Amino acid sequence: MKQILNYIDKSFNVPPRDLKMIIREFHSQMHKGLSGKTSSLKMLPAYVDRPSGREKGRFIALDLGGTNLRVLELELKGKGQIRLIAERKFVLQKTHISTNAESLFDFIAGSVKNFIRAQKIGDDKKIALGFTFSFPMKQTGVASGKLIHWTKGFSAKGVVGKDIVKLLKYSLLKKGLVNIRVAALTNDTVGTLVARAYKDQACDIGVILGTGTNACYRERVAQIRKFKDKRAHATHMLVNIEWGGFNKLERLPYDLELDALSTNPGEQVLEKMVSGMYLGEIARIILKDLIKRKILFAAGGCFSFNAKDNFKTEYMSEIEGDRSKGLRGVARALKRLGVSRATLEDKILVRKICKVVSMRAARVSAGSLAAVVTKMDPHLLRKHTVAIDGTVYEKYPGFARNIRVALRELFGRKNSRIRITLTKDGSGRGAAIIAAVATK
Ligand code: ADP
Ligand code: MG
Repeated sequence: MKQILNYIDKSFNVPPRDLKMIIREFHSQMHKGLSGKTSSLKMLPAYVDRPSGREKGRFIALDLGGTNLRVLELELKGKGQIRLIAERKFVLQKTHISTNAESLFDFIAGSVKNFIRAQKIGDDKKIALGFTFSFPMKQTGVASGKLIHWTKGFSAKGVVGKDIVKLLKYSLLKKGLVNIRVAALTNDTVGTLVARAYKDQACDIGVILGTGTNACYRERVAQIRKFKDKRAHATHMLVNIEWGGFNKLERLPYDLELDALSTNPGEQVLEKMVSGMYLGEIARIILKDLIKRKILFAAGGCFSFNAKDNFKTEYMSEIEGDRSKGLRGVARALKRLGVSRATLEDKILVRKICKVVSMRAARVSAGSLAAVVTKMDPHLLRKHTVAIDGTVYEKYPGFARNIRVALRELFGRKNSRIRITLTKDGSGRGAAIIAAVATK
């Protein structure tokens, strides 16, 4: 028993030496990706730079994140101010995400139609729309891009390799929405960076820690070697790293088991260690193993840990956030899984497993973030604002603090030059801002 617990402790630990290795490997993969060589980091040019903060107008934003579809109407007021006029959420069903292009895009267009009706936006008025589509895309312009592959459990057929804006336009036309102009295509990291940069010119990194994980940053166009279309006027461009794909990380047997059960085996190695879609699943696999060895719940087994995705990241949050003496919150979470007679030792052990899994996630995220900052500014001579969004960062107890601790270990006092700001709903606001930049 001691042995296996020691193994878990040790193998999930990410000491400073490993953080430094992540940084080195990240830099090497980033360089390769920028040069067009094979790399686990795609380094995709976003065809947009930071906004000035002076952009104005009314826009529709569409946000397809992973869990929900949101439609928003926003007014950019210039001077970094944005007013949210209206917002509606539409829940994605399994059929939408796993059937085909038509089912997915007709659903999206239908949601836009519902929204426009409710907002009483007439057919006579032209309106520009920004679309945040948070999957790896090869963009060829600010309003065109092809899906490279699905992530986050999506599998709709007939989308990979297709231009997302064309698919959306086609479905919008079918619904008779002729007054909408799809002006911008982006992803949530770029949207988040742009939303923060609209009022904070020090912002040069956008990060998502939600269902999936990814980041983007501001790069000199001259550094994007693979980029032939170096337009003279642009000195900088945002680059979508697609860091969820980073694969220079040591995987444990638990990670391999998770991977084998996933919809995309072998891909998204970093994402599968870090993001909300997977943290609960890693913990479940470990807990299932401990139950099988009779180290956990020896008084009575529990089968609900045998089924994929049964242990949610939300439960981990609840479990780690439990500060009560008898761990009543842990008991509550376990009860939902059919464990009614957990001993105090059981509860402590469950919480400990959640802790090692979330700690590794936070530290691997911190190492990745540190790599991106030092790619732009190796000696941290400037201040950098990191705009970060996603429920894992926002709600997971201790996650943000653990990232900060790791940054301090890496940079000492200079860590304070990296300012991390929770930037909620950048994926909505950012899409509107990019649409404004594009229609200017
Ligand atoms: P998206 O990435 O789809 O835009 P979010 O940023 O809201 O959406 O992230 C949703 C993910 O966050 C869910 O997949 C879930 O795993 C995770 N999650 C939800 N609630 C919590 C919570 N309280 N603590 C930690 N993670 C959570
Ligand atoms: Mg999101």
